[in-house]
This record gives sequence, C-alpha cells and structure tokens, in this order.
Amino acid sequence: MSYKNFPMVPRVIFGRGSFNQLNDILEPKRLNSKAPFIFLVDDVFKNNAWLTSRIPLAYDDRIIYISAAEEPKTSQVDELVEDIILTTKERPSGIIGIGGGTLLDLAKAVSIMLTNEGEAKDYQGWDLVKNEAVYHVGIPTISGTGAEVSRTTVLTGPEKKLGINSDYTPFDQVVLDSELTQDVPKEQWFYTGMDCYIHCIESLEGSYLNAFSQSYGEKAFDLCKEIFLDNNLSEVESQEKLMMASWHGGMSIAYSQVGVAHAMSYGLAYLLGTKHGIGNCIVFDHLEEFYPEGVKLFKEMKAKHNIKLPQGICADLTDADFDIMIKVSLGMAPLWENALGKNWKNIMTPEKLKSLYQKM
Ligand code: NAD
Ligand code: ZN
Repeated sequence: MSYKNFPMVPRVIFGRGSFNQLNDILEPKRLNSKAPFIFLVDDVFKNNAWLTSRIPLAYDDRIIYISAAEEPKTSQVDELVEDIILTTKERPSGIIGIGGGTLLDLAKAVSIMLTNEGEAKDYQGWDLVKNEAVYHVGIPTISGTGAEVSRTTVLTGPEKKLGINSDYTPFDQVVLDSELTQDVPKEQWFYTGMDCYIHCIESLEGSYLNAFSQSYGEKAFDLCKEIFLDNNLSEVESQEKLMMASWHGGMSIAYSQVGVAHAMSYGLAYLLGTKHGIGNCIVFDHLEEFYPEGVKLFKEMKAKHNIKLPQGICADLTDADFDIMIKVSLGMAPLWENALGKNWKNIMTPEKLKSLYQKM
C-alpha cells in the first residue's frame, strides 16, 4: 500500500473585507518588478464598481471578463492562454480567478497551460502536468464546489469531461471573503451549496472513507445542516459558514472520492450541458436507493427553500443519447468503486443506469 502525498493550498486569508488586502498579497509576487497580473473575473461583476474598483491594477495588469454560463472547455483555456501570450510582453506574474467554480477552474487551467506545452486536453487526467504553473490565486464569490481547495480543474474537452489533476493545480493563495457571495441568487446559492452537501454524503457513504476524509466530511455535513435546515443563522454567519463548508467538503473528497450523483451528472453535463450544481441536484433527488438518509435530508432542504428542480430532462432522448451518457458516466470508475465497492460493475449495469436516467 502506498499512500498519496497531496499538496494543499499554502496560504489562505479569511474574513469579511479581506478582499481589500489583495494589493498587499499580490505585490510581493510581482516578477521582474512589472510583469502583469491577469484577473479572470466572472462577467456578472462587469460594471459592478463595488467589486471591480477594488481590483488593484498597475503596469500592464488587466481584467478579462468571462461568462460562467457554460462550464469551462479545454478550447476556451487554449484561447485564453494564446490571447495572454500574444498580448503580454513577458510571462505574467500571476493569474487571479474571481468567481465561482467556473472561474476558479479556468484560472487554475490557464496558469498551468502558460508553462506547459501543447493543448489543455493533453493534460486531462492524473499527474500529466510536467512544469510548475504560474502563481495563481482563487477568490470564490459563491460557495460549495470546493474548487478553491481542490487538486483538480474540471474541463470539458473534445472527448471527455475530466479534470487536470496534478500537484501544480491547487492555488498558491486563496482569499475567502464571504462578503463577495452576498448577491448570489437564491436558486444558484442552493444548487452550488448542495454540491458541497453531496460531496459530504458521497464521501461519508463511500468505500474509500478514512479518518482524514471523515473528519472534514462530518464538519462540512454539520455546517450544511445548520445552513440549509436549522435556519437560525444570520445572513453573515450563513455566508461565512457555507464558505467553510465548501472548504471542508473539498478537503474531504481530496482523500476519498465522490460517488453516484457526480458520476451521473457528468453524463448529463457532457450530453446536455447541464451545469454541475443543478445537475447534481437533479440526479441526487432520485438516488434514495443508494443514499437513503442523505436524499431524505436533501428533500427536506429542497422543500424548506421552495426549490423546484427541472423534471423530464431525459424524456426526449434517443437510445444513442443514452448510450453517450452511459459511456461517459461508467467511465468514471473510481467514483463507482467508491460508491458501490469493487464489484460495482455487477450492480451498475448499463441497463440499470439507463433506468435511473429515464426517471430524470
Ligand atoms: P459557477 O461558477 O458556474 O457560477 C454559477 C452562477 O453564479 C453563474 O451565473 C455566475 O455568474 C453566478 N455567480 C457567481 N458568483 C456570484 C455572485 N457573487 N453574485 C451573483 N452571481 C454570482 O458556479 P459553481 O457552482 O461555483 O461552479 C460550477 C463549476 O465548478 C463547474 O464547472 C464544475 O465543473 C466546477 N467544479 C469544480 C470542482 C473542482 O474541484 N475543481 C469541484 C466542483 C465543481
Ligand atoms: Zn461537485
């Protein structure tokens, strides 16, 4: 048995208004005294002076606004990298991602591809990255994915939706300022928050569970219950706690794996472009067979916040469509093994998986 030796985020600043310290954090990291910082910012903040006026710009630093309407693609990463190389005279001092999982993953991937040859799709997988990434900073503006702590950046490529999992992927610095999450719309708050909740259930109920994952997973699970069920937190407390739940949920799966909901929602994302948070919710709603207690609580949370999930998204699919989703989903072997054990192939046959998708 050989144990994995994982890197962690080496620096984190936490607190309401800590975003104001960004200049102090970045300036010592400036290379050659003037190489630029590139800020990848969710375009939901375009024209939002409350946030953007506090992004410290000097020399040739610049902001690139990016829509989070679609999840990151390998081709999009390649285009961004090319644009940055063509428009900056020297290698950037750093890449700073400001937004949800979409922008955080883009920042990670761009920082890796600035120092590694070829195309982003060549690095989808485990430990394929050769060179250290450019300094990169993650500043979440919505909580739940755990992308701020994780060792992966999930990208949709021409052949697969798969992360660039590597020791160079985690951020060098994370800024946790819960104030940045204050304007997240309720539905999105729920979907992305439930990504964290589902990480906890899949980690805690999985066969890969160990004391490391359990300690983080249980903490995140308790925080999720406080936030989404108990309902006696102030808004500020709720935002701060969800930020920490996301962090702990991400740490929990670092040393274990996710499970059935993620494996199935990857299939939906690949074929239908269903986004991660809502996709996980759509799937998880039908998984009482695998996670009875977790799904029961999920339904309570859903009712409490009056969330109506889309129904019938697979109603009009052809057999060929189902085959694509099934192939993508069953390709996630470690997730299935974690969820169902070594004999998972006998339990989750293509027919069984199809019958589950047909409910959605
Ligand atoms: P997101 O980044 O896709 O954003 C969701 C929506 O919320 C967008 O419309 C965005 O504009 C909006 N938004 C974000 N912050 C806001 C704010 N403060 N105010 C108002 N609107 C705001 O959402 P997400 O759920 O955080 O991320 C999903 C992505 O994360 C997927 O691409 C998924 O693959 C990825 N992911 C990555 C990991 C990882 O470990 N790397 C883990 C889980 C998910
Ligand atoms: Zn997830």
